[in-house]
Amino acid sequence: MIYDAAIIGAGPAGIFAAAELARQNKKVVIIDKGRLIKERVCPILAGKVKACVNCSSCAVVSGWGGAGSASDGKLTLTTGFGGNLEEYIGREELERMIKYVDDNFVKFGADPNYYEADGKLAREIICSGAKAGLKVLPARIRHIGTDASREVLNNMYEDLNSKCDILMNTQVRDILIVQNAACGVILDNGEVIRAEKILAVPGREGAAWLEQVVNKLNLKIASMPVDIGVRVEVPDSVCEVLTREFYEVKTLYNSKTFDDRCRTFCMNPSGFVVSEFNKSHNLVTVNGHSLKNKKSENTNFAVLVTKNFTQPFNDPIGYATHIAKLANMLAGGGILVQRLADLKSGRRSNAARISRGMVKPTLAAEAGDLSLVLPHRYIIDIIEFLDALNEILPGVNHGDTLLYGVEIKLYSLRLELQNNLAVPNIKNLYMAGDGAGVSRGIIQAAASGVVAARAMLSE
Ligand SMILES: Cc1cc2nc3c(=O)[nH]c(=O)nc-3n(C[C@H](O)[C@H](O)[C@H](O)COP(=O)(O)OP(=O)(O)OC[C@H]3O[C@@H](n4cnc5c(N)ncnc54)[C@H](O)[C@@H]3O)c2cc1C
Repeated sequence: MIYDAAIIGAGPAGIFAAAELARQNKKVVIIDKGRLIKERVCPILAGKVKACVNCSSCAVVSGWGGAGSASDGKLTLTTGFGGNLEEYIGREELERMIKYVDDNFVKFGADPNYYEADGKLAREIICSGAKAGLKVLPARIRHIGTDASREVLNNMYEDLNSKCDILMNTQVRDILIVQNAACGVILDNGEVIRAEKILAVPGREGAAWLEQVVNKLNLKIASMPVDIGVRVEVPDSVCEVLTREFYEVKTLYNSKTFDDRCRTFCMNPSGFVVSEFNKSHNLVTVNGHSLKNKKSENTNFAVLVTKNFTQPFNDPIGYATHIAKLANMLAGGGILVQRLADLKSGRRSNAARISRGMVKPTLAAEAGDLSLVLPHRYIIDIIEFLDALNEILPGVNHGDTLLYGVEIKLYSLRLELQNNLAVPNIKNLYMAGDGAGVSRGIIQAAASGVVAARAMLSE
C-alpha cells in the first residue's frame, strides 16, 4: 500500500496537515513516537513523584497533540508572535491562516471567548512601560486551559481516526529518499512505510533527530538564537490588574548593562510551574502552564534572554543545554529555585527561607543558587529586566519572588525551505512546525501544517 502522504509527528502541525489532506480524501498516515492523549500522564503532574523520572516517552512534549497538549493552550491570535511563518507566506495570508486555524480550534471545543489588549488600560500600560524602557506588545489571546486543551485535541483525534491511519508509539528512524525524491519513512523496527509525499513535523522534541536527517541530506541550516532564562513565580495579586484584562503581558526589553534582548514569555495566571524532560538532550528544564479547572494562587512567566552567537561558534544548542545540565547537576537531577533577594545578595536559598516567603512554590524544586549556573550577564539581565517590569507589575521585583532555573528555548535549527515549506532539491519532502524552525507556538505550528498540506495537494 502506498499512502498519498506520511506525516511524522502528531503535534498541531501534523494534526492540521492531516485534516487538510483528509478533507480532500487523501490516504494519510500519521506517525508519532508518543502516546495517545488519554495515556499521556506526567507522573509529576499526577502527584506520583516529585522530580522528573525520565519516562521513555515524555508525556509533556510527546504524543497526540505534541507539546501543545501539555501546554495550557494559549492561542496567540496576533501576527508577530509564535514563529516566522510570515516570512514564508506574508502578513495577510498569515492573518487568514490564524483565523482559519483558530476557527477550527473553536469548532472542536475551544472556549469561544478571547482576551484582547486594547483600550485605556492597555494605553496606560504601554506608556508607563515605555518610561522604564519596556516595549509592551498588545496581543489577542484565546485561553483553552491544559485540561480543556486535551479534550479539544482528543476531539480532533476522534475525527481524524476514521479518516486516516494513526500509528502511535512508533518512532521514525529515517526518511526514505530515492533519486532525490522522498518516497517513504523507515520505522525504528526497520519497517518501511511508502508514501507519495512526506511531511516532517517532529517539533522541538524531534529537532535533534531532524538535524541528523538534514545533515545527511546536505540541506542548508540557518543559525538561530537560543533563549536562556528563568521561570518567575509571584503571587497572583502582582499581575492581576493586567492578567484579568489581557490574560498575558508580553514585553521586550534591552538590558541596561549588556544591551541584551530580554522578553517575557508564556504568562500563566493562577498557574503551575512544571518541569519537562528533554529526552534528546537528557536534561530537565522548567516551564509553566495553567489549568482551566484547578487554580494556584500564583502567576508564573518566563524571563528569557536571547543570544545570537557569531563565528567561529556554531553550537548554540550545545551552549544552552550545557547550562541546563549544570542546573540539573546542582539540583540533584531536577530544577533549582531561588528567592530574588537571595540571588541579589549572593547566597543560596534554603527551604526554610522560601517557606517564610510570600510565594508558596507550585513546583517542588531544589532550593539553591542560580548564580552558580547562569553566566553573570544573564543574572544581571534578569535582575534589570525585573526592575523595569516593576513599573507595570508593582511587586514583581520583591525579594520573595521565586526564580526557577533554567528555562531554555532551543530554536537553533532553522531550515532553508521554499515559501510553501517544500524542501529545496528533494522532491516530495516538506517540513514545518517548531522542529523546522518555522513556528514557536501552537497557532503558527498548526498554520504551517496547513500551508504544507495545501502545497502537497497542489503539486
Ligand atoms: C509545557 C509547554 C507549554 C506550552 N504552552 C504553549 C502555549 O500556551 N501556547 C502556545 O502557542 N504554545 C505553547 N507551547 C509550545 C507549543 O506546544 C509548540 O509550539 C507546538 O506544539 C509545536 O507544534 P509542532 O506540531 O511543530 O510540534 P510538537 O507539538 O512538538 O509535536 C511533535 C511531535 O512529533 C513527535 N516526534 C518527534 N520525533 C519523532 C520521530 N522521530 N518519530 C515519530 N514521532 C516523532 C513527538 O513525539 C511530538 O508528539 C508549549 C510547549 C510546552 C512544552
